Amino acid sequence: MPFLSTTLDRVKPSPTVAVTALAEELKRGGKDVISLGAGEPDFPTPSNISEAAIAAIHAGKTKYTAPDGIAELKEAICAKFARDNGLTYTPDQVSVSGGGKQVLYNALMATLNPGDEVIIPAPYWVSYPDMVLLAGGTPIIIEGKLEDGFKITPEALKAAITPKTKWIIFNSPSNPTGAVYTPEEIKGLTDVLKREKHVWVMADDMYEHLLYEDFDFATMAQVEPELYDRTLTVNGVSKAYAMTGWRIGYAAGPVALIKAMRKIQSQSTSNPCTISQWAAVEALNGTQDFIPTNNVVFKRRRDLIVKILNDIEGIECPMPAGAFYVYPSIKGLIGKTTKSGVKITDDETFVKCLLEDTGVAVVFGAAFGLAPAFRISYACSDETLVEAGRRIAGFCEGLS
Ligand code: GLU
Repeated sequence: MPFLSTTLDRVKPSPTVAVTALAEELKRGGKDVISLGAGEPDFPTPSNISEAAIAAIHAGKTKYTAPDGIAELKEAICAKFARDNGLTYTPDQVSVSGGGKQVLYNALMATLNPGDEVIIPAPYWVSYPDMVLLAGGTPIIIEGKLEDGFKITPEALKAAITPKTKWIIFNSPSNPTGAVYTPEEIKGLTDVLKREKHVWVMADDMYEHLLYEDFDFATMAQVEPELYDRTLTVNGVSKAYAMTGWRIGYAAGPVALIKAMRKIQSQSTSNPCTISQWAAVEALNGTQDFIPTNNVVFKRRRDLIVKILNDIEGIECPMPAGAFYVYPSIKGLIGKTTKSGVKITDDETFVKCLLEDTGVAVVFGAAFGLAPAFRISYACSDETLVEAGRRIAGFCEGLS
């Protein structure tokens, strides 16, 4: 009898986490590595938020809490949904977890039975399909093509829905492409979903505040109120508040679903870190002033890296509207050979050689379901981007 669970045969380790760990390891070993792998802002957590956490420690707020979050945070989350998204929720409709990742995992574990299908538009965040597989479901991938701005059409969505469809996981602004659906484009999709009453919506709005073009963010339950009763609206403090390590994600949705998610959390991890929860209360209730300030910086970096990449022969990089990722295609480089004699057969080989030869760490496109491409997280300094661009250009020019 095997010692390890056969469930593990269905999934692979997270490639985004793996590349970050590998870059760290190489750095510790003395290699000059530029890590553009992890999707996390380089800004420090704003000091009002850190101070709230320190105050919580001094006030002795260091014990267990309710498994899915303190009342004060649930209230702050309800206020956030009302303020930013025009969505009315009560605290019993809210669940707080150790990052957006745990929220999504709980929701899938709480709802999927063998045979249930989950529609995932590609390119997708690496963990969606594997979480579905872990929970015993079947991922159904719809490809958002580069020429369509990486967005899916209502027709493609309709064609993917079967009687077995349980969820669609919808992520805009997108990790890994930075693509953002306009409210009108979302309406096109919700018009389809409105008629398919057995399909639930998991709206992953983690990058809500990171938007650089002149249109408003919209989420599915807001665009189509008829979907409110079968939508889980997911968000978190990691990206907008530079709080990735604090691990606070949250969601709001129908009470029965939230209760089921709480049951899973109560038997697995219990409450997310108490101190982080108090920090998140301050993040959501306190000043939001640094968000537009940070976005000016992100937008400048986006423009910089897109220009650098498009100047490289063989690379085509669309201009994303949000998040802090670019997703260039390397179609023009496939089949070429590196100076050290390795043939670039796919994007996984490309990123491996790029790291070995130049020390630039990025994530290969196949991990996100659309190849050949790679993802750069540009949440780092302009100087870092310029240096990374110089190395990538040198590497590509050296291909023959
Ligand atoms: N969401 C981030 C990324 O895509 C964090 C890493 C992860 O959990 O996948 O890089």
